[in-house]
Amino acid sequence: MAQLYFYYSAMNAGKSTSLLQSSYNYRERGMNTLVMTASIDDRYGKGKVASRIGIETEAQVFAAADNLVRIIEAAHRETPLHCVLVDECQFLSKEQVRQLTFIVDKLDIPVLCYGLRTDFQGELFVGSHYLLAWADKLVELKTICHCGRKANMVVRLDGDGKVMCEGEQVAIGGNESYESVCRKHFRESIWD
Ligand SMILES: [Zn+2]
Repeated sequence: MAQLYFYYSAMNAGKSTSLLQSSYNYRERGMNTLVMTASIDDRYGKGKVASRIGIETEAQVFAAADNLVRIIEAAHRETPLHCVLVDECQFLSKEQVRQLTFIVDKLDIPVLCYGLRTDFQGELFVGSHYLLAWADKLVELKTICHCGRKANMVVRLDGDGKVMCEGEQVAIGGNESYESVCRKHFRESIWD
């Protein structure tokens, strides 16, 4: 029985590296995978999943309005798929997470989703909300805060390195950066 997996973490925990390794493991055994990523993320150009340690692969880009069942079924008809891997899955809509459950339940193809749990204000992303609710397996990928504790939160920094408390959930084209921190340091930055 195929399952729906949600690998979640803060920033820079190696999500893309982990995705690429899993995809490679399938392909090494002669199995076929489909790698997907959100079109909202153009850090490395469209249609690519790249990790910070230098490996990358081509990816099928999806937008918020896309029907993932249609995209995955079309790829599956061309070459039978053994696994679907979705990067930046926090950007999935509720409907798209439901579509992924269809892929798992009806087509019996495992779907591995990788993404952030919460945004820079500590709120769940929509895709993460429904993956936490509906995934069969929840797996935390760990990274650490500057203090050495596990970092499960993300802060957004402006161009001067100051923590930002307000703004759009997704900042595009600015000079913001992100840092993973533990909840204690998130609290001291945002809540206190
Ligand atoms: Zn800390």
